[in-house]
Amino acid sequence: MPNGPEPYIDDSKALQDDDTFCFSCTPEKSCFTRCCYDLNLVLMPYDILRIKNRLGMTSSEFLKKYTSVHVGFGSGLPVVMLKMEDPYLKCPFLEENKGCTIYEDRPGACRTYPLARMARRSTEIEGVEEFYYIVREPDCRGFKDGKEWTIREWKENEGVVKYNEMNDIFGELYQAKQEAGIEHLTADQIDIFYMGCYDIDSFRINFLEGPNLERYMEDEEIIERISSDEEELLAYAMRWVKKKLFSGGCLGCSVSAAQDQN
Ligand code: SF4
Ligand code: SF4
Repeated sequence: MPNGPEPYIDDSKALQDDDTFCFSCTPEKSCFTRCCYDLNLVLMPYDILRIKNRLGMTSSEFLKKYTSVHVGFGSGLPVVMLKMEDPYLKCPFLEENKGCTIYEDRPGACRTYPLARMARRSTEIEGVEEFYYIVREPDCRGFKDGKEWTIREWKENEGVVKYNEMNDIFGELYQAKQEAGIEHLTADQIDIFYMGCYDIDSFRINFLEGPNLERYMEDEEIIERISSDEEELLAYAMRWVKKKLFSGGCLGCSVSAAQDQN
């Protein structure tokens, strides 16, 4: 969300896959890259994984250099934000006349705009139910002479499907915390949350490389999978955090069960 004029979120209509909207973002627009200034960009766990690999850094190095962390006022959970550069609060990945230098690995929020995604677990359908709303940033000219898209086409074109999938796993933690009736985490619990969700290279070292009883209790096939696939590792780590902080009990069991159901 920008610090300047508030964007207008049209929540009068919740859009789904077959609904349409009109938008075109091209370098020819007079507003090109304006949306990469003066914004508060919250990073999700999968955003961090993609960008730190793009930059050839560990997650710890990336977090230290490019982000700030605070505990969310409402959630009580750590929130990671991209540090913008003074004096105009420019995104550090924007280069004048070049645009976004991490375009193929840009965060989910940058991909999804001009849409905002709302997701909820429903008892009526299996999995997650999602809706999209149009977000109109005051200076954005993308709506003028825009091409028509269905929501489905936009998601595919912008490559947000994997981001949504990982964000939904992250969302399970918020839901689990709420259902467990936990208001505040201790400092140690906040560290666990931070490591499992955001600092995936530290999680790998702690969980897969150090002496760790929980690893020995886990199924061998799962250990092999999360050792060789970092996206699988992140999904596992987030569910590990959920189990450890909000559900209690042994860690491996529920993850294996959830994967068996998929
Ligand atoms: S059209 Fe909108 S999204 Fe595209 S560069 Fe301009 S302000 Fe940014
Ligand atoms: S990551 Fe790229 S698209 Fe997103 S704000 Fe930064 S420069 Fe703009």
